[in-house]
Amino acid sequence: MHNTSWDVIIIGGGSAGLSAALQLGRSRRSVLVLDSGAPRNRFAPHMHGVLGRDGWSPLDLLAAGRDEVERYGVVIESADVATASLGDGGFEVVVDGGRRHTARRMLVATGVRDRLPDLPGLAEHWGTGAAVCPYCDGWEVRDRRIAVLASGAMSVHQAQLLRQLSPQVTYFRNGTELPADAHAGLVARGIAVESRAVVRVLADEHGGLSGIRLADDVDVPIDSIFLHPTPVPNDGVLRALGAKTAEHAGVDWVAVDGEGRTNVPGLWAAGNVVSPRTSVPIASAGGNAAGAMINADLVEEDVRHAVAASGASAA
Ligand SMILES: Cc1cc2nc3c(=O)[nH]c(=O)nc-3n(C[C@H](O)[C@H](O)[C@H](O)COP(=O)(O)OP(=O)(O)OC[C@H]3O[C@@H](n4cnc5c(N)ncnc54)[C@H](O)[C@@H]3O)c2cc1C
Repeated sequence: MHNTSWDVIIIGGGSAGLSAALQLGRSRRSVLVLDSGAPRNRFAPHMHGVLGRDGWSPLDLLAAGRDEVERYGVVIESADVATASLGDGGFEVVVDGGRRHTARRMLVATGVRDRLPDLPGLAEHWGTGAAVCPYCDGWEVRDRRIAVLASGAMSVHQAQLLRQLSPQVTYFRNGTELPADAHAGLVARGIAVESRAVVRVLADEHGGLSGIRLADDVDVPIDSIFLHPTPVPNDGVLRALGAKTAEHAGVDWVAVDGEGRTNVPGLWAAGNVVSPRTSVPIASAGGNAAGAMINADLVEEDVRHAVAASGASAA
């Protein structure tokens, strides 16, 4: 069996993982990135709010990132990592074919999966006609007919953000309660409130989003639908290694400090896997910070080892 040891193994090669790899590669660390190739925003043809790359394909951004980190000697392998362990050789991952990789530090940047509301016809439009983030996809539907599907604690806020972009916003209660003050805020800003049950999302003959069907067979034409999917962190590796979680908005997130350290020494996490509120730039920033801090942590360890090896003692 082939064994390889690294300074750092990064699991997840999205914006967070690759940004960390860039810092570490440029610090002359040996780095392995293991990535299953399914970034969260792969359903969207374009990304927005990313300075200097506004409107780029998210997949093109990651392809460019992979090219950049490989220039610094970072190795990227395709792998879906189910678990990891911690032993005498450090962090250990076994990939397909039984190859064993060990590392002094591990960074997990595996993102989240989006669990969509169980509404027929919705999933087909995810990332095109159906979106979550007004900052990512709102401008493109300015002045158009925008539906907001009540699907989370922030849905009213989402509708109010979208009202900034279009006067034609409808809030579909979808069987949820709407407090009187929230209702008043919506109506006061000209946001229509639809209380009838939503039955399905409709497509036109080209497959594009065209409307919403209500329970009494009334079809409401729309150009775009915004909703709040439930984020499901891809944190199996972190949990297997003993990372602690903290509840936020109904989801248990692995807890990290401001630089991405978990409670497990040497184990770090960055990007969407530990944060509900990331965008591409925020995920990149988390990876960038974690990459630098992991290198600093390794430098401290290198100093300790060097001092021990030299036989020098503190004055
Ligand atoms: C539809 C949609 C559109 C969006 N549009 C925008 C936008 O326009 N602008 C913007 O800034 N943000 C946008 N976002 C948010 C953006 O997708 C995330 O903020 C960003 O992808 C988070 O980066 P990340 O590196 O943390 O995770 P990801 O980009 O999800 O990358 C995680 C990587 O880890 C890999 N992985 C997961 N599990 C494993 C495993 N067990 N083993 C190995 N690899 C694994 C995945 O395959 C993936 O490559 C959008 C999100 C969605 C859902």
